[in-house]
Amino acid sequence: MEPRTFRICVLPGDGIGPEIMAEAIAVLTALGESEGVAFETAEALFGGVAIDATGSPMPTATLDAALAADAVLLAAVGGPKWDTTDPDKPRPEQGLLGMRKELGLFANLRPVRVFAPLADASSLKPEVLEGVDMLIVRELTGGLYFGERARQTGVTGAAEGGGPGRRAYDTMDYREFEIARIARVAFEAARGRQGRLHSVDKANVLESSRLWREVVHEVARDYPDVEVIDQLVDNTAMQLVRRPAQFDVIVTENMFGDILSDEASMLTGSLGMLASASLGEGTALYEPSHGSAPDIAGQGVANPLAMLLSVELMLRHSLDMHGAADRLAAAIAGVLEDGFRTRDIAGEDTAADRMVGTAEMGDLVRLRL
Ligand code: NAD
Repeated sequence: MEPRTFRICVLPGDGIGPEIMAEAIAVLTALGESEGVAFETAEALFGGVAIDATGSPMPTATLDAALAADAVLLAAVGGPKWDTTDPDKPRPEQGLLGMRKELGLFANLRPVRVFAPLADASSLKPEVLEGVDMLIVRELTGGLYFGERARQTGVTGAAEGGGPGRRAYDTMDYREFEIARIARVAFEAARGRQGRLHSVDKANVLESSRLWREVVHEVARDYPDVEVIDQLVDNTAMQLVRRPAQFDVIVTENMFGDILSDEASMLTGSLGMLASASLGEGTALYEPSHGSAPDIAGQGVANPLAMLLSVELMLRHSLDMHGAADRLAAAIAGVLEDGFRTRDIAGEDTAADRMVGTAEMGDLVRLRL
């Protein structure tokens, strides 16, 4: 009998992307062999490398490959080479936003788990980190990043008391259905966890946040078993470092979620430990929360674990391979328990013979599998 085959669209992208993706593919191949399934990987251009080759950060062929796949695995995009403030020049991040929009990926799930052996790698005291296990559910296709925007020159600002000059604005725009569907994802997730949901907004200032709060409470009527706590985003930013264990599931709009999830990632000690899943109606996308880390690209020192944890999320959410996902998670935890560390998660007490690079860390996880 032919083995079950999954088609995975692979987007290595820029910077450390290709280095960490190589480890993900090697782990996938190993898992496929032991699970008796075939992973058919199709690599495509995305981000800065795609701009160089085609002029577009998301060429049509890449989008087609993504749409045809069972899941998309993305490493990271961007870098100084493509940094520009010229609105007419293509930027790698446009590929990310475009892919989210085209695949309808409105929900971004970011689990924040503190692996006990890494409690020392965080800048917070180990006792503050005890019991931290939260899920941040970020709205991904609305709000400020997709609202109406403009840049104008030669604006006369006399009416506002300013002189003539340049003007720019972005708008935070949310529709009821956008809030309701992300709220449902969060309530469902909370129901399967500790049943506690923090809805984070800025309702004391923003009209879009007042609508957010209203709609979340309307959806809450269908989830009487989930406790809802409204929290202002500035307070959440503070609570995340004060008492992070209070959080089970956090749901919030696009930009607040962007910022809070980076903050929360530091609880784990490094951006290199944080994975994410972006879900919509069809093909889902899995990627580490960190960027392309151009400062360490090509050195073989990047931490591949966020990438491997993204593979774990893919196995769970798109491929229904929960056994394999559990094995991968256990292998990663085991390697950390054995004391192996990449530079970003190493502590003062890390033994010299336990300091490893990207490929070695990937090999250790595969050996454990
Ligand atoms: P970054 O996440 O790339 O790096 C921030 C810091 O964390 C750097 O010091 C980096 O070395 C370190 N770091 C990140 N990932 C690591 C890993 N796996 N192992 C070890 N250390 C790691 O963020 P940045 O420096 O603000 O952005 C760099 C580029 O990445 C920019 O072009 C930015 O636009 C892009 N970016 C892309 C994504 C994405 O692809 N989803 C996300 C964020 C930023």
